[in-house]
Amino acid sequence: MKFGFDIDDTLINLREHAFHLYNRKLNRNVDISLFHDLDKVEIHELFGMTAEEGGKMWKNSLEEIYYISCPQYPDAAETLQKLEKEGHEIYYITARPKEHGERTMEWMIQNGFPVQKDRFFYGMNDEEKIHIIKDLQLDYYFDDKPAVLETLRDLPLNVFAKNQSYNRHLDTPRITEWSELFDLLIEKAE
Ligand SMILES: [Mg+2]
Repeated sequence: MKFGFDIDDTLINLREHAFHLYNRKLNRNVDISLFHDLDKVEIHELFGMTAEEGGKMWKNSLEEIYYISCPQYPDAAETLQKLEKEGHEIYYITARPKEHGERTMEWMIQNGFPVQKDRFFYGMNDEEKIHIIKDLQLDYYFDDKPAVLETLRDLPLNVFAKNQSYNRHLDTPRITEWSELFDLLIEKAE
């Protein structure tokens, strides 16, 4: 089977990592519970920033956000390694900007994810992911973003939302812990 994965906030805990970084950089102490209650992907509001200021802060912090000790979710790499050992194909589809594609791929390899270079896609808009997912004829796809998940509704593949505070309103099947994946696959097969 072909399995596709988004990276940020699906396999790795990027927003929370950025949240802690913002607290440090801005010398603030915004409570983590506010982060966990956010109903949107962007975190700048928690720090009293406008969308424009938030966009700038994000861009200026990208190097640290992407490459300095961002933790993966528990069992993420192991679960994907196990899938690959069982003979499945693993694809990554990330909307990270083009100039970060190669380094992100190397980062994923260094952090234990099974990566085949011709199965790693980056640099598209969220809305363009659907074309890649269609062309690849994936059997399963996992993402966190409502805007992406909503475009995939009518495709003939199994889409799962990685459970997040900002996608709770979607009725897409969801995965909370990566250790649940094999149980979900068994349920699907029954
Ligand atoms: Mg994501």
